Amino acid sequence: MKLYKKCPRCNQKAYLNDVKCDECGLVFSRLNFASNLEAKKAIVNGEREKVITTTQFPSDLKRWLAGVLCAFGGFLGLHNFYVGRYFKGAFCFIVSFITIILIFTLESTSVLFETLLWLFPAAAVFAFWFHDLFLIAINKYKVPIALLMPEKKEKEIIIVEKKEKAGKNKEAKRKKNESNPIEEQ
Ligand SMILES: [Zn+2]
Repeated sequence: MKLYKKCPRCNQKAYLNDVKCDECGLVFSRLNFASNLEAKKAIVNGEREKVITTTQFPSDLKRWLAGVLCAFGGFLGLHNFYVGRYFKGAFCFIVSFITIILIFTLESTSVLFETLLWLFPAAAVFAFWFHDLFLIAINKYKVPIALLMPEKKEKEIIIVEKKEKAGKNKEAKRKKNESNPIEEQ
């Protein structure tokens, strides 16, 4: 039986009925109210503080589509653009583009030297490509999301959960007392 889950944000172990991650403070139920589109807007506007990255895809992002884009266009960073990881996408796109041009225009030894200059960036692109494809396949690829649930609501959830837990404890104590009638006499 699985008793714990992993925080989709920081990968820390948490119990299945935990409301909140002890490590990074993420309230798990907030993930049900998350948007990738809002995260993309925030990234474009330079509001990085609104964005967190998690392995849990929000409803406006399709994991299978990210997988297809990565499989066929991963070297151009297409899946990165799709999920909003623009810098990584731009790096892959530019390096692949220049590498392809160099391969097709390779004529003399001096161009070979230029190619060698691009060998390491190109190797990095290939590493990103296959690494990302692997991560998407095992559901560990992180995507930027913006949490839409207001913090006030988050606090309410924590309070309700705490009350429920306290209630359970009381009940447990009561049952304990019932099974120990001597204490009550
Ligand atoms: Zn966490």
